Amino acid sequence: GRAVGALLMRLRGQFDESDLPLLVNVSAQFARNLQREGARALRIPKARETIFSAPAAKQRLEAFGVVSGLLTEQSGAARVLADSTDGYAVAYLDGTLACVNNSMLDAAQVSAREALALDLFGLLNCFRAGVFDDPQLAVRRVLQTGEAYERELTFTERNRTFALRIALITDDEQRAQKRSKAPLCIAVTARDVTRIKEYEKLKSDMLSLMSHEMRTPITSINGFAELLIMDETIPAEAREFLTIINNESQRLTRMINTFLSVTKLEQKDRQEVWMAPVLLDDVVRETINIYQPVAKRKRIRLVEKDGTKLPPVAADRGMITQVLANLVDNAIKYSPERTAITLSATLEAEAVRLTVEDRGYGVPPEDVSRIWEKFYRVARDGRVKEEESTGLGLSFVREVVEQHGGQVFLESEVGHGSKFSFTLPRL
Ligand code: ADP
Repeated sequence: GRAVGALLMRLRGQFDESDLPLLVNVSAQFARNLQREGARALRIPKARETIFSAPAAKQRLEAFGVVSGLLTEQSGAARVLADSTDGYAVAYLDGTLACVNNSMLDAAQVSAREALALDLFGLLNCFRAGVFDDPQLAVRRVLQTGEAYERELTFTERNRTFALRIALITDDEQRAQKRSKAPLCIAVTARDVTRIKEYEKLKSDMLSLMSHEMRTPITSINGFAELLIMDETIPAEAREFLTIINNESQRLTRMINTFLSVTKLEQKDRQEVWMAPVLLDDVVRETINIYQPVAKRKRIRLVEKDGTKLPPVAADRGMITQVLANLVDNAIKYSPERTAITLSATLEAEAVRLTVEDRGYGVPPEDVSRIWEKFYRVARDGRVKEEESTGLGLSFVREVVEQHGGQVFLESEVGHGSKFSFTLPRL
């Protein structure tokens, strides 16, 4: 809050608002350097004869105790950082490195001696990789926006993957007082995520194993069981068993398919979702037609609530149809006989909303927030076992809706029913 100098700038190009934070950060560091220099130049006055009083000396001693206590505490925190398995480095805003821990040296492949001559960019240069080829630009962006820069960097020849993070550390106290954030330093973190990457690879290998190696035998079990069922020479009881084999193998295929579609979706980039104008009224009608027979078996009425004419939305039709199908399928599964399920589509300011409302068992409040998680199932007096349940249906719903830029909602009351809905942005 004190002026220590003035910075004169010659502009070589355009200067606008977005350059201001960078300038503020750079000049803050200049100011600190000036102050440091000033402090160094101060001449310590010669010892003069002073009269000390006993209480004053005691007070000073106490103050010294507090300061040394604080220092001990802080050096404890610094020791913890030094010992961490994640790499840490702290740099002043002019690029001077204040400290670098051993894990960081290891990640950057520099010795403790080499580190002495290193500055921020020297350190970051050690991490140059395909997606991180311009450290200067990355740091500049951090200074300009105040937002952390994060990248996952793979070094194939070393067989290691690091999650690199460059963040601007600001003075929280000043921020709390609503003054502009005072930048203090830059923190660089390098976390070794090699193992996590290996697990992810293992997972995706498992998935392709499931999709190819497991589907084939199931298909033949399924096909041959079907053939045998049609063979009239086989005793009726054996044919009944074959029907069970057939149904169960089909169930297994469905479960594998759901599982694969959820995981495939997670790996997809947002841009990969294939969007085209879709009329949601049509999707609703189609779903009702498909599920009418299933609902009838439980004597459930499946109705469409008349609504206003809806504009088209940009969506992947196949995926949105599957989303609605999952919700209707759940509503039927988790409702007692002779109830009603209502489907409705409504127009909102920025979005179109589809709602599936049932008069079923409902979802307990403690499960509402977790129900969208993968494999999450609500235990309902041993009921989970009865239905064909994987706990994946709703995670698929959320994943698809969010990839479309929409949101999912649930209102529910145990014993009264549930209202699942999702929005899709209007075209
Ligand atoms: P699945 O139905 O395969 O178990 P979901 O992800 O579709 O997987 O659903 C997760 C859990 O949410 C289900 O186990 C069920 O207990 C609960 N659930 C889903 N839909 C409803 C609903 N309409 N009414 C009550 N509970 C529901």
